[in-house]
Amino acid sequence: AKVNGRGRVEMFDAALRAELEARARLETEIRHGLAAGEFELHFQPVIGVATRELRSYEALIRWRHPERGMVPPGEFIPAAEESLLICEIGRWVLNTATKQLSAWTWQDPAGHGDVTMAVNISARHLASRSLVEEVRHALRESGLEASRLVLEITETVLLDEPTADAHLRDLRALGVTVSLDDFGTGYTSIGQLQKLQVDTLKIDQSFLRSSEPAGQALVQLMVTAAHAFNLDVVAEGVETQEQLDRLERIGCELAQGYFLGRPKPAREIPVSPTDREVT
Ligand code: C2E
Ligand code: CA
Ligand code: CA
Ligand code: CA
Repeated sequence: AKVNGRGRVEMFDAALRAELEARARLETEIRHGLAAGEFELHFQPVIGVATRELRSYEALIRWRHPERGMVPPGEFIPAAEESLLICEIGRWVLNTATKQLSAWTWQDPAGHGDVTMAVNISARHLASRSLVEEVRHALRESGLEASRLVLEITETVLLDEPTADAHLRDLRALGVTVSLDDFGTGYTSIGQLQKLQVDTLKIDQSFLRSSEPAGQALVQLMVTAAHAFNLDVVAEGVETQEQLDRLERIGCELAQGYFLGRPKPAREIPVSPTDREVT
């Protein structure tokens, strides 16, 4: 039994070591990928439900890996979030996304003049002391007004990071908009919405997917609550006309999803005013 126990400890050791090595390798690769320009942003439109007008883009990162092809964020963001690498990635995303929106506005003021850019910010990055300065830097370098930048954060951030609250206050003081991503999947209750430092709620895709009356009632409830607290609402994951119609009846003003537009690289985004209808 003793030998067995030792064996198990050694096996565990080996598995742990392999995992740590794999993570270290991925980190080295990400760092190299950043330096080599292997990352790119795709942009997904957010549409006004009633008017069908383009209101915003969400920047979504992809890794054009030399061997593995296009790697989705789910395969490297969680690993990057284990270290300070996520802050480096976040900085790159902030700078690239703000420059892109600024370029579109310059080429197409009529179509992009008041369109905003949403960027996903990880918990660790929000907790870092330098984020506020980095946002200020990205705005200065791009020449973009603060009001045209939206930072998307998930609700776990607010619970896990004691400094998040103070940093959010500083960011909002700059004039940046803060959006609560994946709402409904975490622990934030509707009652807590009043106290949060956010301007917008993004209802998680899973609620739209539900065809049950109860799921639909939940969407209705979240929209009503958000409005009561003066928050804008974005419904994520709209895949059908039917879902869009339902959102319009409920009074949800903003929507995002494959039905309205898939994430696309900048070179595929139209910049002439006549092409700007996204639906
Ligand atoms: P998210 O912020 O909730 O982004 C929405 C995800 O849903 C995106 O996946 C988008 O492509 C996908 N999506 C949009 N519309 C639809 C739809 O109608 N149906 C379905 N089935 N999916 C839809 P993506 O691009 O793979 O990103 C996954 C997650 O990775 C994001 O979830 C976000 O949490 C994270 N992420 C992406 N880019 C960044 C980034 O630049 N920084 C950080 N920190 N996280 C990022
Ligand atoms: Ca998001
Ligand atoms: Ca989301
Ligand atoms: Ca998500």
